[in-house]
Amino acid sequence: MSKKRVLITGGAGFLGSHLCDRFIKEGFHVIAMDNLITGDLRNIEHLFKHKDFEFYNHDVSTFVHVPDKLDYILHFASPASPIDYLKIPIQTLKVGSLGTHNLLGLAKSKKARMIIASTSEVYGDPMVHPQKEEYYGNVNPVGPRGVYDEAKRFQEAMTMAYHTYHGLETRIVRIFNTYGPRMRLNDGRVLPAFIGQALRGEDLTVFGDGSQTRSFCYVDDLVEGIYRLLMSDYVYPVNIGNPDEITIGEFAEEIIKLTGTTQKVIYKPLPKDDPMQRQPDITIAREILDWEPRVSRSEGLKITYEYFKSLSKDDLYTKEHNTFEGFVRK
Ligand code: UDP
Repeated sequence: MSKKRVLITGGAGFLGSHLCDRFIKEGFHVIAMDNLITGDLRNIEHLFKHKDFEFYNHDVSTFVHVPDKLDYILHFASPASPIDYLKIPIQTLKVGSLGTHNLLGLAKSKKARMIIASTSEVYGDPMVHPQKEEYYGNVNPVGPRGVYDEAKRFQEAMTMAYHTYHGLETRIVRIFNTYGPRMRLNDGRVLPAFIGQALRGEDLTVFGDGSQTRSFCYVDDLVEGIYRLLMSDYVYPVNIGNPDEITIGEFAEEIIKLTGTTQKVIYKPLPKDDPMQRQPDITIAREILDWEPRVSRSEGLKITYEYFKSLSKDDLYTKEHNTFEGFVRK
């Protein structure tokens, strides 16, 4: 029997490349697609030698064609850090909307099952804590994060419409803050920002007073949750994340301990619309997928720190860091 074929968009990105690894390991034929705006071929370099791996350099916001059959589509293409989507807001909106539409069309024509990468950002700056899937969210559509949040909300609506109207097999994962090897050191997110600062001997920049919270999930746990959801029968959104919540101030202290840096914490203004608290309620994932995270933050951070230490000086000293100034909370 011929191998099952899977298309992974954003395949050269942080999550996409880990998903490529997982599907190769599971014995699939993997087609990765990426326009390399925020993705990096180094993340999938090791897969090119594999006979069951192909790569297309393509922007999924324009018409997408893949020859032959497709069994699964994972739509993971999108800028995913606040700095990225502030820098390229229109592309962010397009890949979540037009890109999703193109891929749903492709899934329909191939009779493939499609999973979309949604996000905890659909809850915005949440008024409900922890966040359950039934919460509709508190999103500012015209704020700096609106381009990402609303694209992802539209993506969910479009996906659900293809499911109900066309009978397409669809799955929706709402991903909470995730970390691990292959994050971009300069993507502006808190973990690469802090570790990069420690490695360069700079002070750690905490935005606001550091009392805002996040809950960080190690990438292997996330990939396991996504795999299980894709293979399940559940069509409604499912939160995948680690409920172990921490303030950003405490997180900075953890990174100082981990790296042994002698630098201190300095405080910068809180970016506009920065969510004050975030923690996934993972009851549905536990019940439907029998999934919960296994990797503790201390374990995951150690692995991630080793990865960042192995990067070159060029990566470490690349110019664009923390360009949040100007997006201060009112
Ligand atoms: N943050 C920070 N210092 C940094 C970068 C981020 O204090 O150098 C804060 C940011 O304001 C937010 C949290 O860390 O409250 C997580 O930010 P990130 O960009 O990683 O992701 P978000 O969860 O906001 O999408």
